Formats: sequence, structure tokens, C-alpha cells
Amino acid sequence: VPELPEVEHARRVLGEWLGAATLEGVAARGGRLLGPGASAGGVVRALSGRRVCAVERRGKWLRLGLDRGAVFSHLGMTGKWVVAALDDAALPHERVRLDVRQGRRRRSVRYTDPRGFGRFLVVGEGEPPPTAWSTLGPDPLLDGVDAPALHGELASRRQAVKAALLDQTLLAGLGNIQATEALYHARIDPRRPARTLSRAEVARLARGIGRTLADTLLRDDGATITYVAEAGASNPFAIYGHQGEPCPGCARPLQKVVVAGRGTVFCARCQR
Ligand SMILES: [Zn+2]
Repeated sequence: VPELPEVEHARRVLGEWLGAATLEGVAARGGRLLGPGASAGGVVRALSGRRVCAVERRGKWLRLGLDRGAVFSHLGMTGKWVVAALDDAALPHERVRLDVRQGRRRRSVRYTDPRGFGRFLVVGEGEPPPTAWSTLGPDPLLDGVDAPALHGELASRRQAVKAALLDQTLLAGLGNIQATEALYHARIDPRRPARTLSRAEVARLARGIGRTLADTLLRDDGATITYVAEAGASNPFAIYGHQGEPCPGCARPLQKVVVAGRGTVFCARCQR
């Protein structure tokens, strides 16, 4: 499931493919992807002939700013933007097709989504952005993590700190992998009630978030950014996906528990 680093990678790539491009041909399949009340025909009419002015990211959302209006794209669980040639046939699970001209260059940018949990929301000029975008909390990469502010937010929450970190209105962009890694770097038990964290612990957590995001982005060589479906030899994370293996800090076996419905790896000795 894409988290902040994977979506940041998508933003960089989409910026190359779509920056200052004109949408000369648009096709879309109707359905949940387009949001309630939107039709494929309406999307095609709204986007045809538009020019892309900006490709931005906030949390796990992408925003294509247009000369009139905008598109908000969320990759859901399995969404992916792919570049193709204009005469390439439809790709498997292709849901949106943007045939674009960028200077003299033409290409076809396709959105594919096998499971279909993503979103492609077209917003007209002067219309408000989707609620899921406007309610996003600070983005750790764009805004940094303000430890005192985060401490203030966590102080009112009874839920486990791991669950709080997955709430996109608290911080935008963390998912299961990055939250697991950040809590390990901060040496905090993911099951702790959020409101029990001290200022010093939240300061460590803020640094842990910055560290895991930076580590993951550093591995982005422009080809693929790794996210791991199963534990394996290529797993680049400190503890995510390494349950049962020795903790890198103390060598005791890493445990796996369920927090807020999500499998969570942690070290019972290092994380208190
Ligand atoms: Zn340990």
C-alpha cells in the first residue's frame, strides 16, 4: 500500500510526464474511482484541453493543478500511474487515460488500479477541494513534524499511539510501514495510549518519523521504491516485515501484535 515515500516518488515522475502538458485526449471508466455523482463523460468534458500547471503531493494524495480546476488522485491500495505510447492498447485494469502533449512530445499516461480503492476526483474552478484533502494534517516532508504541536494533539487521544499515527488528520502520509519504523526508532511501544507519551518521547517520535521517511526516500533510485508485501531477503526496513527475526538493537526476537486492526511488529525490550 503506497505511503508518503511512494506517493512522493509518483509525484516526481508525474511531474516529468505531465508538467506543463496539455490534455489532448481523455478517457475514463466510471465508478467509485471518480467519486460520488461524477460520471466518466463529465470527467472527459472537464479535462479535455486543460493544461497541467502543477503536480503536487500532500500526505498520500496527489494534486494536478490545471489552468481551470484540479484533479485529486489517491492511489488507494493498488493504484499506479504508468506511461505508455499513444498507440498502446489499454493496460490491464486501466481506469483513466490522459493523452498529453508536452512541447513537441506526446505520450499517454494511464492510471491503473486492480483493486479499485483509489480516487480520481475532478474539481472545477472555484470549487472546494475534497474533504479528505482539506482535512489532512501537517505533511512531515512539506511541513516538518512540530514535536510540541504533536504532543498537544496526542495528549487528548486515548487510542494507541500507532493508531493515532495512521490518522491522516494528525499527520498526513504515514501508513503501517512508516508508523512501525518510526515507533521503533523512537523506542516507543506502539500499544501505548497516545496521551501517555511524554514531551521527550514525542520529540523522539518526531525524529523517528523524519528518519524513516528520509531512509525510504534515499532508497528511491528512480526505478522502484520498495514496499514489501512479505518478509524477504530484500526487505530494507529495520523491523517492518521482520517478525520473529532478531531485533537489530538487542537481538531478541521481534514480536507481532495487532494494533487498531493492523499487524504491528515491535521489540518488547527496546520499545517501552
Ligand atoms: Zn530490541
